[in-house]
Amino acid sequence: MDVYDSLGVSPIINASGAVTRLGGAPMPATVLEAFSEAAKQWAPIEQLQAAASKMIAQVTGAEAGLVSSGSAGALTLGAAAIMTGYDLGRMEQLPHADDFPNEFVVAREHRSGYDHAVRAAGVRFVEVGFNEIVAGAGVRRTEAWEYEAAFTGKTAGVLYTYGSHAHPPLEEVVAMAHNHNLPVLVDAAGELPPRANLMLPTITGANLVAFSGGKAIRGPQSTGILCGSRDLIAAAALQMLDMDDHWDLWEPPAEFIDKQKLKGMPRHGIGRALKVSKEEIVALVTALAVFASSDLASKNETHRKNLELIADALHGTDATCELIESDDHEKLPLLEIQAAPHASTSAMEVCRALRQNTQPIYVGHGKLEEGKLVINPMCLDRDDAEIVGLAIARELG
Ligand SMILES: *Cc1c(COP(=O)(O)O)cnc(C)c1O
Repeated sequence: MDVYDSLGVSPIINASGAVTRLGGAPMPATVLEAFSEAAKQWAPIEQLQAAASKMIAQVTGAEAGLVSSGSAGALTLGAAAIMTGYDLGRMEQLPHADDFPNEFVVAREHRSGYDHAVRAAGVRFVEVGFNEIVAGAGVRRTEAWEYEAAFTGKTAGVLYTYGSHAHPPLEEVVAMAHNHNLPVLVDAAGELPPRANLMLPTITGANLVAFSGGKAIRGPQSTGILCGSRDLIAAAALQMLDMDDHWDLWEPPAEFIDKQKLKGMPRHGIGRALKVSKEEIVALVTALAVFASSDLASKNETHRKNLELIADALHGTDATCELIESDDHEKLPLLEIQAAPHASTSAMEVCRALRQNTQPIYVGHGKLEEGKLVINPMCLDRDDAEIVGLAIARELG
């Protein structure tokens, strides 16, 4: 591809899915068209965000939504919104938040590198529960009462990392927090599909939920979604939008930002560094509509055929292939390739060699310690799958 060649960068074959390091998911043609159409004209960003909010609300059942700079950007904005509400003084102080409630209670087992985005807003974490099972030192996971026991006058909210095995159940944590009038911010960045998870704010009552726009939704890699209660979304938007206007001229759409609730015009907020462009907003909204209505089951059928092609190419080798399919037909199938235990090249070495291939191939590296390569079909077409199969067969000897 010329654009990459001219920069002296070789495009790769991505067999590890929508990972950020490799550029995320492929955008469908309709999304790319929407992106370039949007780039040809200008539109006030707050009006675009208000329109996006309506569309996100329809799809998620939440009161409102915001297109953010990735799920990480959504987490920073969500944390900021929870700490400030419509308070202009607090907005101006962030990320210095020690003068008002800025503690988020979080289960130790819900911590991840991504929560730096929450801390970036000025949040301090109060950890509860233990990671006893991982430590091999106990049998119990975090329990809902542990959250309640940690709530104090300094508590601003709760951070919850959602997943199909997340514990305690989100509903229980939400109920506990709401008993104390505390909001819950949920990181559900990679938890789509199943599309049913789009309804998390409605189903669980969580106040704010963050999704990635550049993973399965297949919008621009740099986008995300924050959805939830109207006032919190407004507070998040106020801290991201460019505020260089006159109070008397400024007319944000009332259903998106209630000007009546403001004592004046905020300055550029902590999220000003997390801006999204008109093209990104239009493309994300387009991608979300496509994702919400697409036939994921039949797409997965194509993905499965591509994975079978790779497995077939490995027939003559000592490796064993396992097609991993979920009961949930919306979830991507994966192929796990287990190098033979006595193999002369380890999975790690095969992974490295594939990256050094004439056309570099990046495979999923999450199970290398178990001696497995994981193939995610999301960014592979049939030709790619053939190349990947042959290359792995060669490396496995
Ligand atoms: C991918 C991911 C993020 C970051 O999402 P971006 O859209 O890349 O900012 C945050 N949290 C979790 C759990 C993720 O998987």
